[in-house]
Amino acid sequence: MIADLHDLYQEVIVDHGRRPRNFGSLPEASHRAEGFNPLCGDHLNLQLKVVDGIIQDIRFDGVGCAISTASASLMSEALKGRSVAEAETLFDSFHAMLTGDQPESPPDLGKLAVLAGVRKFPARVKCATLAWHTLLAALHQAQQPVTTE
Ligand code: ZN
Repeated sequence: MIADLHDLYQEVIVDHGRRPRNFGSLPEASHRAEGFNPLCGDHLNLQLKVVDGIIQDIRFDGVGCAISTASASLMSEALKGRSVAEAETLFDSFHAMLTGDQPESPPDLGKLAVLAGVRKFPARVKCATLAWHTLLAALHQAQQPVTTE
């Protein structure tokens, strides 16, 4: 595990884990959801401002490990300005990268591909996908908090 940590905590992940982008709250949010990953203790509040089907702004806060924080930060950067439909497509690609049969990251993921190494650590996959499951809950106006368990 130690030898692979270098792989897992690549520079981008460390950077986003330490200095998460779009961290905070969004008072004018139109969509929000809360996510938990009890296995690791990650807790995330996600807020989105969606206008005419476009994600105009996105913020998150909460407490999480480096992987969950970096994933939420990278997701927030990737989603700003995208349509809801594009966000759902990205969710599918991201989820497939971490849990699917395809060995390499899909081409449309861009910077999100830095998290591909997490697939080698099944316990951490939930850390990396928490923000995305919370995103879907927010977009679908789920009333219950999301949990990965
Ligand atoms: Zn975690």
